[in-house]
Amino acid sequence: MPEQHLVAVVGAGPAGIYGARKLAEAGHRVVLLNRDIKPGGLAEYGIYVEKEKMKTGLRKQFKKILADPKVFYLGHVTIGQNQALTLNDLRTIGFGVIVVTAGAQGTKKLGIEGEDTLGVYHAKDVVYYYNSLPPFSQRTFEIGRRVAIIGMGNVMVDIANWLLNLKKIDQVVVVARRGPTEKAYDDNEFEYVEPYLDNADMKQEIERIAPHLAAVGQNVDEIMKKFVKQGEPAEGRRLTFRYLCSPTKVIANDQGRVAALEAEENEMVLQDGRTVAKGTGKTRRIEVDCVIYAIGDQVDAALGLPFSRGAFVTNPEKLPGDPNPAAYQPYDPETKKALDGIFVAGWSRNASVGLVGVAKQDAERGMKVVNQYLASKEGLSSGDMEADRAAAQKRRCGCYERRYRTARKRRTRGSPRTQNLGLQIHQRRQDARSHCGAQGGEIGRATKRVSLQY
Ligand SMILES: Cc1cc2nc3c(=O)[nH]c(=O)nc-3n(C[C@H](O)[C@H](O)[C@H](O)COP(=O)(O)OP(=O)(O)OC[C@H]3O[C@@H](n4cnc5c(N)ncnc54)[C@H](O)[C@@H]3O)c2cc1C
Repeated sequence: MPEQHLVAVVGAGPAGIYGARKLAEAGHRVVLLNRDIKPGGLAEYGIYVEKEKMKTGLRKQFKKILADPKVFYLGHVTIGQNQALTLNDLRTIGFGVIVVTAGAQGTKKLGIEGEDTLGVYHAKDVVYYYNSLPPFSQRTFEIGRRVAIIGMGNVMVDIANWLLNLKKIDQVVVVARRGPTEKAYDDNEFEYVEPYLDNADMKQEIERIAPHLAAVGQNVDEIMKKFVKQGEPAEGRRLTFRYLCSPTKVIANDQGRVAALEAEENEMVLQDGRTVAKGTGKTRRIEVDCVIYAIGDQVDAALGLPFSRGAFVTNPEKLPGDPNPAAYQPYDPETKKALDGIFVAGWSRNASVGLVGVAKQDAERGMKVVNQYLASKEGLSSGDMEADRAAAQKRRCGCYERRYRTARKRRTRGSPRTQNLGLQIHQRRQDARSHCGAQGGEIGRATKRVSLQY
């Protein structure tokens, strides 16, 4: 029988949960540590509020995976450099391997003047808000009546859907660097907002940029046919597009609120077979009272892994194996070494790339690498496993406090490894309490449950 190991998975979104399943199937004990109280990540707090069927289906799958006796879920535990638990603490506590599947929690900025004006927001914050994720759900968003959304992907469509259908604002203006053909949203997603499309405005906009489209060999007639439909915008709420525009400045009014967005007009050029936007130096003013960035996210540097240009640095080597193990190994460019025993997967590896299915597939491929790595390492002793089994048995039949007392007793008479883990976690709990106040209490409660298992 293959050796069993104790694995910490940081982040319980789709990548963490599906990844945990693969690790448990290989016989390992998996502790999922998740910042949010509920599991699911963006499948819970990102996917649009009204896609209830999809969310329910995913929740069912997650619930089943989390019910596996080899998988332990701890919510409201944030791992990071300024948190009560760091990645290094997890190593010290005794996890043989750490898998980081914390998604892409950092926000990207454009670096333009006025970006901090009241009424400028990041899509992820807005999405967390309307999906009721604390503390975003308690924040105030000064949305206004005319909102510019920067970016042309599926997240833009979700935000436009929320603004037009639920917030019932007057107008959404989508601001995009390139033209209609370079859209990143899916046509079936766009159907949610298509009734609001101002077709007359779209026709004018395509006529305005027609010379630039033709200059890169795009067929303006076909574009007109595809993007201009019949009919007036529903209920007087309008969805318009401003193509070939790169934002340069957020203009504030006297009260320090968004009054307009300034953008440089672009032309398009072909570069290595791709259409690329090139500034013309000419600017225009777009009258809006709120600006939302839907330009993708970056990973959270505070997790403490080597970080460059919005992403965790992974091993540049091409190691043998399919999948290439290096792609999942964080890498320190200073020492020129991969970090031993730490792996990344999902949106933590490829920020803002793909749907749930893509994150799942990435995690499953990544866990092949992790399982291979673990196969070469010494695992938990049979004493540890026996203690685990006994603890799991107690967990199933006892009340919470009784289980805790049992675990405390076991700590003093279990295997050396079990004792060590229990004491270390107890110490962490004390540290967390004394350093972090209320949150420490949460971590305390969470770690108390860990101590039951080991
Ligand atoms: C607005 C939006 C709408 C979307 N709509 C759809 C859709 O309709 N259909 C679809 O298939 N896909 C959709 N997606 C894509 C899908 O949500 C992602 O592909 C998927 O959720 C990525 O999974 P992940 O596990 O890598 O990251 P995430 O889902 O982001 O999960 C990360 C998890 O890590 C936790 N975490 C973060 N930091 C820490 C930390 N420091 N310590 C501990 N835990 C931490 C978080 O609490 C979270 O639970 C959407 C994405 C967005 C942004």
